[in-house]
Amino acid sequence: VIEVKNLHKSYDSLEVLKDISFDVTKGEVVCIIGPSGSGKSTLLRCLNRLEEIQAGDIEVFGTNINKVKNLNKFRENIGMVFQLFNLFSNYTVAKNIMLAPTQLGLMNKEEADAKADELLAQVGLADKKNVYPDTLSGGQKQRIAIARALAMNPKIMLFDEPTSALDPEMVGEVLKVMRSLADSGMTMVVVTHEMNFAREVANRVIFMADGYIVEEDNPEKLFTAPAHKRTQAFLSSVL
Ligand code: ATP
Ligand code: MG
Repeated sequence: VIEVKNLHKSYDSLEVLKDISFDVTKGEVVCIIGPSGSGKSTLLRCLNRLEEIQAGDIEVFGTNINKVKNLNKFRENIGMVFQLFNLFSNYTVAKNIMLAPTQLGLMNKEEADAKADELLAQVGLADKKNVYPDTLSGGQKQRIAIARALAMNPKIMLFDEPTSALDPEMVGEVLKVMRSLADSGMTMVVVTHEMNFAREVANRVIFMADGYIVEEDNPEKLFTAPAHKRTQAFLSSVL
């Protein structure tokens, strides 16, 4: 469902993605790991055209995303969850979740309300429907951010270090939601520092450094017998 070919991306003279090629098939969970500054977030942002690219092709569902005319329509298929949850603090949890699908006319109020109930149950926060985000813990906020992304019924979910801003005791509850999403068959691309999650949930792990994909493999192979020195060095620094 995602096919990236020879992607190059620069910010002015700084080339941050250098000849990136990979693909993601339906239902697959691909984790991207690598040191800070290696281009992981930039790559994720390229996938839903939050960044313009200088060379290469990105196809999503068989369409070259640079040829997409209706960008909003295209992005409905792709949910994104960031490190910082970016919830609207002046709206209740329910309103945060219902906002996009109702504003875009995809659901009427009743449908969106029912969807919010369903999603809140899914992330284990049914009792928080009518509270404001400020009253939630970091882990709860991130679970609401996931629910909000899911409200659009996306076919692909992109996660950019969704747990790295959380206190350690809250990481587990967010990973649990992501794990069950993966089990439900969602196609996911996850930038993460959670090596155990990558190891247990990913179908494939991509290791990036300096704007390159150094190697990609199934987690078993990549974590126990990485082919490249650079991967070995990174893993020994984080594991
Ligand atoms: P981290 O693990 O710290 O999140 P990352 O792998 O996600 O790092 P990116 O955020 O993709 O790395 O950044 C890759 C490079 O691009 C870095 O050198 C960064 O300084 C640069 N960069 C990122 N965004 C911009 C921007 N908007 N303008 C200019 N340079 C940028
Ligand atoms: Mg990043």
